[in-house]
Amino acid sequence: MKKKLNKKIIIGVLALQGSFTEHVTALKKLKIETLLIKEAQHIDSVDGLIIPGGESTAILKLMNENKITHILKKYILNGLPVWGTCAGAILLAKKVTGLNKATLGVIDIEIIRNAYGRQNDSFKESVRIPKIQENQFPGIFIRSPKIIKIAKDIAIFGKIRNKEIVGVEHGNILATTFHPELSNNLRIHQYFIDKIKS
Ligand code: GLN
Repeated sequence: MKKKLNKKIIIGVLALQGSFTEHVTALKKLKIETLLIKEAQHIDSVDGLIIPGGESTAILKLMNENKITHILKKYILNGLPVWGTCAGAILLAKKVTGLNKATLGVIDIEIIRNAYGRQNDSFKESVRIPKIQENQFPGIFIRSPKIIKIAKDIAIFGKIRNKEIVGVEHGNILATTFHPELSNNLRIHQYFIDKIKS
């Protein structure tokens, strides 16, 4: 296991719409090589993938047009480490309220789009993430979805206000409803890198 820690990895960032540039910048700060994924054949070259925030309907439409959805799902089910942030989390979820097209559906959670209402649709809140010993990760929520149900085998990765689940993990899949790439805290990016390396 240890040997792999020094392995050079490439992380793909789905680059169809949304905040993919910010993820690339974060990964560059951590000296990680990145590849912008716009077409299905690019997926084969990466060791892990980030699906950024943005507009899930727009990203999904482009994924379907570029014939990425099916292939990506296959890779994820075969163990490709993937991390979805905000809209990315929506696209990974098995059940989504407010989106009438099939998502990747690879993590057994139920999520509601734009669930925080107008007044509160963008806010900052400290996220508690025990796995990385963070009690106050600066969570930036922008028209975020809300995770309302998780299957028994899904691990809670992060919570706000002591009760609301804002991050989940299951095997190779990580999903957060906030935007770590817009904060200066790179610890979840580092966590994802370490996850890929192990
Ligand atoms: N509201 C967006 C959606 O439903 C998600 C917002 C985001 O990614 N910041 O797709």
